[in-house]
Amino acid sequence: MSDGHPRRAIYPGSFDPITHGHIDVIRRAQGLFDELIVAVAANPSKNALFSIEERCQQIRDVAATLEKPIRVVTFTGLLVEFAKQEGACALIRGLRAISDFEYEFQLALMNRSLAPEIETLFLMPKETYSYLSSSLVREVCSLGGPVSAYVPPGVEKALREKFQDRDRSARK
Ligand code: ADP
Repeated sequence: MSDGHPRRAIYPGSFDPITHGHIDVIRRAQGLFDELIVAVAANPSKNALFSIEERCQQIRDVAATLEKPIRVVTFTGLLVEFAKQEGACALIRGLRAISDFEYEFQLALMNRSLAPEIETLFLMPKETYSYLSSSLVREVCSLGGPVSAYVPPGVEKALREKFQDRDRSARK
């Protein structure tokens, strides 16, 4: 299968913020590829809670706890172009439920049409993470709910601080 070159995959996403679901997918992908690049989308049209720098740092903090290294980068523009520049042969996406399927299916086939040499691979997280999304975690935390089961401790702290700051400025 291998032609002597390291097999490199890209796991793209918003990671706003990274959750245990993302981390589960990262670990599974690491088992399949020689190198994994986590690519954080700098998508200005999405109104992110965390800045791109904050999101990258949160992922780097997680990376420090993993057995195998990952590279954390930001990207703008067309994902498949970025993947080609990086010499990646695969894109990793997580599949949680049927609700993910339609959008992910469209995206994968569009990416294949743009770059037939790059495969999209779907990985399913552990069942307990299959209902987890960054947006739900943000919502629960904004309403004062506990999120320690869903995100690493550093992210939990950052979420609390973000919402405290928001509450404070809303009261002004
Ligand atoms: P995007 O804006 O690209 O959807 P996300 O950070 O929300 O960015 O998700 C990135 C990828 O990780 C997507 O393929 C998504 O389906 C997957 N993902 C998100 N949360 C989970 C989870 N709990 N389990 C498995 N995959 C997940």
